[in-house]
Amino acid sequence: MSDVVTMEKIVALCKRRGFIFQSSEIYGGLASTYDYGHYGVLLKQNVKNEWWRSNLQERDDMVALDAAILMHPRVWEASGHLAGFSDPLVQCLGECKQRFREDHLREAQPEGELKCPVCGGDLSEPRQFNLMFQTHVGPVAESGSTVYLRPETAQGIFLDYKTTLQYSRKRPPFGIAQVGKSFRNEITPGNFVFRTLEFEQMEMEFFVPPAEAQQWYEHWLQARLDWYVGLGIDREKLRLRAHDADELSHYSSATSDIEYLYPIGWSELEGIANRGDFDLRQHQEHSGEKLEYVDPQTKERYLPHVIEPAAGLGRTILALLCDAYDEDEQGGEQRTVLRLHPKVAPIKVAVLPLLRKDGHPELAREIYEDLRKRMSAEYDSGGHIGKRYRRQDEIGTPFAVTIDHQSVEDHTVTLRQRDSLQQDRIAIADLASHLEEQIR
Ligand code: ATP
Repeated sequence: MSDVVTMEKIVALCKRRGFIFQSSEIYGGLASTYDYGHYGVLLKQNVKNEWWRSNLQERDDMVALDAAILMHPRVWEASGHLAGFSDPLVQCLGECKQRFREDHLREAQPEGELKCPVCGGDLSEPRQFNLMFQTHVGPVAESGSTVYLRPETAQGIFLDYKTTLQYSRKRPPFGIAQVGKSFRNEITPGNFVFRTLEFEQMEMEFFVPPAEAQQWYEHWLQARLDWYVGLGIDREKLRLRAHDADELSHYSSATSDIEYLYPIGWSELEGIANRGDFDLRQHQEHSGEKLEYVDPQTKERYLPHVIEPAAGLGRTILALLCDAYDEDEQGGEQRTVLRLHPKVAPIKVAVLPLLRKDGHPELAREIYEDLRKRMSAEYDSGGHIGKRYRRQDEIGTPFAVTIDHQSVEDHTVTLRQRDSLQQDRIAIADLASHLEEQIR
């Protein structure tokens, strides 16, 4: 991330280029909800694919799952979310009457009596506010029909732990991985997609023999940190922060956050928790179903301990955008550029005919139709070439191919690199395989 990035610039670029924009905008918007446009969808998809590749495809101790969002309401009693998943909320008693999370205010005002950060007024006593959205199953809202939109994907994994163990022929240590939407009735201002009412999580529950929990906790801290670096994020802008004892959730014996230095300061990107056997024990008690693992060799019975790396897709997207954002000057002109790693860039290559005549468009179209079978490509024939490059720079396209009069004669094209602006002549026949190598 260069020094020039601000949240305002990221929000503006995301809207201008169709990555992410306010939801329900024609009705004035709904706070803390966002829609992903074309390039945002492609970027998200690439990040999810990288997550699946590194955590599932390249391991032999992980199984995939896609559990339902709605679950039996008793799940949330067992998990502790009905009683404990709440934030302490205070309201301004002065002029502005706004609500704030007491724990967030305390971070900014470590000493003395808390005051309203907007108008300086006194604050109410804190009230616990449950973050789960409720809805009802069936045609009428009546007692017993209440269900909750899941506030995390994790519980679906615990519910399917036994079934997965039986069909997958795995044994601890092994994990279950899931990507899906979660919902939280957040009341603090969102900071764009950092905190939203609905968001996608990429979560794993890794089940281990109790004696191995610490070792696997450390394994996942390192593996997950390395994953972000592999996406091209600056290592200097990432850090691990271990939770103090008073910060730990009700279930956790150790938790560390991977934090990124966003324009709003160091903030959580992913949480990695050693949950012990809390969840399986709770579900075993509440459901009456035995969830112990019996080792076939030693006949030892135990409830596995669980290491949970829980990442947010929206926060990863925001970190990638902030990290990639840059401004420089090209030929006396200001340029905005997203220096995204080619493997996450929404479009890998732009195909640009120099002129709209002399056979350029026909040849360009042919090259484009060939390339798009192998990677996401975009054809653009509209406007001045410099303007077309600028547009691709802003959406982070790492390569641009230009077709000119020489291309028609000798079947070569110019390949332009987004970051170095280097331009090389390359044979059309070699183009696709050359690009594939660079993208990897
Ligand atoms: P915070 O303290 O910021 O509210 P959390 O500790 O409650 O986050 P977890 O329950 O650990 O978050 O959830 C795992 C991950 O899910 C987070 O690291 C984050 O990336 C993502 N996440 C959680 N809540 C939200 C949200 N409201 N909007 C976007 N992403 C979220």
